[in-house]
Amino acid sequence: MAKVLVTGGAGFIGSHLVDLLLHDGREVRVLDDLSSGKIDNLPIDNPKLEFMQGSIEDCNCVETACINVSDVVHLAALVSVPVSIQQPAKSASINLLGFLNVLNQLRSQDFKGRFIYASSSAVYGGEQRTAQPLREVDAPGQLLSPYAVDKYANELYANLYADLFGLSTLGFRFFNVYGPRQDPHGEAGVVAVFAKAMLAGQPTKVFGDGTNTRDYVYVDDVVDAFVRAAGPLGSGNRFNIGTGVETSDRELHTEVAAAAGVADDPTFAPPRLGDLRRSCLDASRAR
Ligand code: NAD
Repeated sequence: MAKVLVTGGAGFIGSHLVDLLLHDGREVRVLDDLSSGKIDNLPIDNPKLEFMQGSIEDCNCVETACINVSDVVHLAALVSVPVSIQQPAKSASINLLGFLNVLNQLRSQDFKGRFIYASSSAVYGGEQRTAQPLREVDAPGQLLSPYAVDKYANELYANLYADLFGLSTLGFRFFNVYGPRQDPHGEAGVVAVFAKAMLAGQPTKVFGDGTNTRDYVYVDDVVDAFVRAAGPLGSGNRFNIGTGVETSDRELHTEVAAAAGVADDPTFAPPRLGDLRRSCLDASRAR
């Protein structure tokens, strides 16, 4: 049976997707360089799982990974917005050239399945919009980070490859995904960051005045969207995946403190470069 290739499958979202695919009886191949993902996230003894350690920046590796696959879910990325601002060339090498390596390889192997990739709601940019929630038809505003530029370029290339070569491509825009296995040590993944600090009795930090808002979506719902996307779909090749609910940073802190049973007492730090003020997604097209 042809396998589903999941790049970045040892990461937070990817490992949940692998679990669900295996549960559904699919054969899965993971390509991951373990730069932020962990082998412990994967049921490595499952005979239906093949793990390849390697980088999407390495064309030979990508070539091998793409042999005889039915569908491809592309999640491998450098996910930190602050790191992308500090090291834009590294971000472009992984998030743009790595993405192109996979697309190109599928094209040369005459791939007939679906290429589903993680974009981001960062592609909506940072201008102060009155119209929320954001819809797929909304034009991008000023992009705020190399990460956002790379993700937007991914969408343009995916559409171009669909047009030029008939590749079936589909991108998902989501914002703050949360759930088990999320890395609490990075700058992203604020639910995990707050929870870890609170459970360890350490101080928590809110960037800005606490009024920034985000659309938080549970990892199982994102994974569900990826699995459904491998089946027949209506028109459109970019879909928002979100709840349509805006939660402010301050509200989120209160919620996590209540769940952890600790005092709701954050410190405040200056806003960070690259952070959006508001984000909330209209997911009616995906629905
Ligand atoms: P993650 O860091 O847990 O997963 C990314 C995986 O990619 C890791 O396992 C990492 O080891 C792997 N990887 C990184 N560089 C690689 C390379 N060069 N070659 C092969 N593998 C490589 O992050 P995640 O939160 O699971 O994100 C998955 C995808 O979803 C990413 O594309 C990310 O940009 C996107 N996304 C995530 C969120 C979120 O809230 N978590 C929001 C929007 C978009």
